[in-house]
Amino acid sequence: MSLGFVEEPGEILDRLRALRAADAPTHGGRVLSYVYDPGDDALDDLAAAAIREMQPVNGLDPTTFTSVAALEREVVGFVRGLLHGDDDVVGSVTTGGTESCLLAVKTARDVWRAGHPDAGRPRLIAPTTVHAAFQKAAHYLDLTLDPVPVDRDGRVSPDAIAARLGDDVALVVVSAPSYPVAALDPVEEVAAACADRGVALHVDACIGGLVLPFWRRPDGAGLPDWDFAVPGVSSVSADLHKFGYAPKGVSVLLQRGRDRQRAQYFATTRWPGYPVVNPTVLGSKSAGPLAAAWAIIHALGADGFAELADSCRRSTETLRATVDGIEGLRVLGEPTGPLLAVATDETVPVDRRVDPHHWADAVRGSGWVLQLQPGLTQDDGVRLPPTTHLTITPVTERGLSELVPALEAGADAVRGEAPFDPAPLLGTLPLLDAPLDSATAAVILAGLGLGGGAGLPDRQAPLLALIEAVPVPVAERLLIELLARLVEPSI
Ligand SMILES: *Cc1c(COP(=O)(O)O)cnc(C)c1O
Repeated sequence: MSLGFVEEPGEILDRLRALRAADAPTHGGRVLSYVYDPGDDALDDLAAAAIREMQPVNGLDPTTFTSVAALEREVVGFVRGLLHGDDDVVGSVTTGGTESCLLAVKTARDVWRAGHPDAGRPRLIAPTTVHAAFQKAAHYLDLTLDPVPVDRDGRVSPDAIAARLGDDVALVVVSAPSYPVAALDPVEEVAAACADRGVALHVDACIGGLVLPFWRRPDGAGLPDWDFAVPGVSSVSADLHKFGYAPKGVSVLLQRGRDRQRAQYFATTRWPGYPVVNPTVLGSKSAGPLAAAWAIIHALGADGFAELADSCRRSTETLRATVDGIEGLRVLGEPTGPLLAVATDETVPVDRRVDPHHWADAVRGSGWVLQLQPGLTQDDGVRLPPTTHLTITPVTERGLSELVPALEAGADAVRGEAPFDPAPLLGTLPLLDAPLDSATAAVILAGLGLGGGAGLPDRQAPLLALIEAVPVPVAERLLIELLARLVEPSI
């Protein structure tokens, strides 16, 4: 039997390609966040073929589709080996970093609850630089997030974490490295404090997990231990869809101890349907990204990952030197891994300073997409400055001869320009403290030239400045409205 299509497949795909053409480019290194391009067409083709092979499979049930379990065993085994896990470390493949983080928190919460049957809401302790996925996890799973302020360079003091430990702490999270500032948190010191108090420790290596095992400092020195080589580490998350170079939708969560890991599972026989037993959030799901990650691991091997990490390291050093050489900008803190946060150098006179957000907008004008990050005033009053983020991937190396001058020219174009002042715009807004309904939020957005047909502005510096200037709940509500209206059917 064949179905009569109401539209021709060729035309449908042409429309899809036209839509894709308007996307930020996913290949070639022009976008320095979100995408992780190994710069190898054969690897892309292999991943696509693996996905195609698994297209009809339901990843929900590894007993019916036994290939899913076979692939997962190998992928988990590969990552466990890289992260110094022994036979006591077990794991699962998830759909991404956020799911791995959610499940690490869910496991810790349930283990903690079992040991504290009469206690209330547990706490989750993490530096303020921890990924927002842990705010989401605390929100979804009913834990109180207790953010530990970091210093102006994004470093957390292990003593500050230790001082907050208590019986109500279900989990401490540190990063290897953190996304916003690329800080490799002091895993050994924090793990020792956690082990003393019997508190679980998660290391979020979503971005570093497949690259830090091959990383060296510029002077050739290795990194301090940060993975399962450290005894007090209970779990580690590592994304294969970042520096594992797999298509989006695949990450690994490893846990030390089978009994602990079983708390990650959900099982029920209490309904009239099939028994539901799984370690992850989704039910039916694609096994495509898993198969692609598995194929890439087999194609590259550890040596291939090491070679790609070396390329990232060389480019990161070049870009660091580039930023160090640009008057008015500086690299924040001591980044570890292929990512950098760039801030204003406040040691130079005001008229020589470069605002990192104006810089990102200027660099975008020459075709390179950097990611703007807002400043953050922490609970202790210490302020992390606004920064611009760069994630460096293997393909970056090929474009360095164009990227470096673009970064320099962008800075020259905006040097001395004051950070965007949102005050005049704010004055035009209606009172912003009431809970906003959808219609009011849309009117405010329109007043700011956002949303509707306008989409997002070319320059993002004003948007970031506004986000920082309005009360947090209002900013969050406006962003919800902006994103929600983006996907409302227009006919
Ligand atoms: C990317 C990232 C996450 C979240 O991962 P997603 O795959 O985007 O859901 C969590 N932690 C860190 C450090 C990350 O870089």
